[in-house]
Amino acid sequence: MEGIAIRLRDLRKSFGETTAVAGVDLEIRDGEFFSMLGPSGSGKTTVLRMIAGFESPTGGTIELAGQDVTGLAPFERDVHTVFQDYALFPHMTVEQNVAYGLKVRKVPKSERLVRARTALAEVRLEGYGTRRPAQLSGGQRQRVALARALVGRPSVLLLDEPLGALDLKLREQMQVELKALQREVGITFVFVTHDQEEALTMSDRIAVFNQGRIEQIGTPAEVYERPATPFVASFVGTSNLLAGESAQRIVGTAGTYSIRPEKIRVLKDSAGTDEPDHESAAGTVAEVVYLGDSTRFLVDLDAGGQLTALQQNLETSAEDVAAYRGSRVLLQWHRRHTVHVPDPR
Ligand code: ATP
Repeated sequence: MEGIAIRLRDLRKSFGETTAVAGVDLEIRDGEFFSMLGPSGSGKTTVLRMIAGFESPTGGTIELAGQDVTGLAPFERDVHTVFQDYALFPHMTVEQNVAYGLKVRKVPKSERLVRARTALAEVRLEGYGTRRPAQLSGGQRQRVALARALVGRPSVLLLDEPLGALDLKLREQMQVELKALQREVGITFVFVTHDQEEALTMSDRIAVFNQGRIEQIGTPAEVYERPATPFVASFVGTSNLLAGESAQRIVGTAGTYSIRPEKIRVLKDSAGTDEPDHESAAGTVAEVVYLGDSTRFLVDLDAGGQLTALQQNLETSAEDVAAYRGSRVLLQWHRRHTVHVPDPR
C-alpha cells in the first residue's frame, strides 16, 4: 500500500506466562515521526524489536511498505535500529563505525568513505572521523550511532530510547536536532520513549501503550487535549481527574473528566465566582511547589478529590507562594477545558 511504511495487524508476543504485547494494530505513514510512549513494561520495546526482526511474534503480522516481513530475518528488512547504548565498536574510528554497514554490504571503499562523511556531516560531526568512540562525549557518540543508521538510507529508523543516557540539557538539544534531522532526510522514524514530554515535543503522532495494548493513537495535541482513556489522561501530562461524587458536584454530571493544570486559575477567595461559562471549585491548598517560572498548587476540593493548578509566576515570588499553603482558594477554568474521558471498554 502506498504511503504506509509499517502496518501491524493484531501483533502479539508472549514470553512464557508473560504477555508482553496483547494485540497491537497500527499504521505508520511514510516519513512520519512516530512515537511509542508508555510506562516501563508496557510492551513498546518488544513491538520495536518485532518490527526490526529481533523477536518473532506469537501472533499477527508485520508489513513494511506493503510487504509481509513477519517471517524475514533482520537483515532482510529495510530498517535500522539505534539502541540506547549506541553499540559502537570501540576499536574502530568514527568513520569506520559509520561505514561498517556499507562494508558488510560490499559497497566499494571510495564510495563508503564519501557516504560516511556525508552522514557525519548530517549529524554535524565533520572532522571527527578519525577519533575513536572513547574520545567523544555522550552526545557525540549518540550522533555517531545516528550517522551509522543514516548511512545505509533505510526506509525506516527504529530508535529505542536513544536519548535515555544523556543529561537533561543535552537531551533537550538532541530532541530538537533529531526532529530537524528527520525532517531533512525524510526517513520514517519510530521512536520508543517513556518520557511524555519527549514524545509531545518531537512526534507527528504518538501511540500510548499500557499493558501490551495501545490505548490511544493521535497527534500530540489530540493525545494531550483529548485523552481517550483515564490512563492516557494521567500518563500524558499531570493527572488531573474529577470522578464520582466530586465530578457530579462540580461538573454537574457523573463521569470522569480531565482538566489540564495550566487551564486552572487559582483565586485567593470567592471573588469572581460568577464568570460566565466557567466552572469553579472551592478548596484548601494542600501543597505549593515553586518551580521558578511557575508554581504548582495541589488543592483538596470541598467536593472531594484533588486538583493540580499550574500558574505562571508573572509577579509572584517564592515567598508569596509559600504563604498559600493551607489557605482557602477558588479554582476556576473555562468549561471547554473540562474534557470528558471515556471509561475503558
Ligand atoms: P521499558 O521501557 O522498561 O523497556 P517496555 O514498555 O519497552 O519497557 P518491554 O521491554 O516491551 O516493555 O517489556 C514488556 C514485558 O515483556 C515486560 O513485562 C517484560 O518483563 C517482558 N519481557 C520483555 N522481553 C522479555 C524476554 N526476553 N523474556 C521474558 N520477558 C520479557
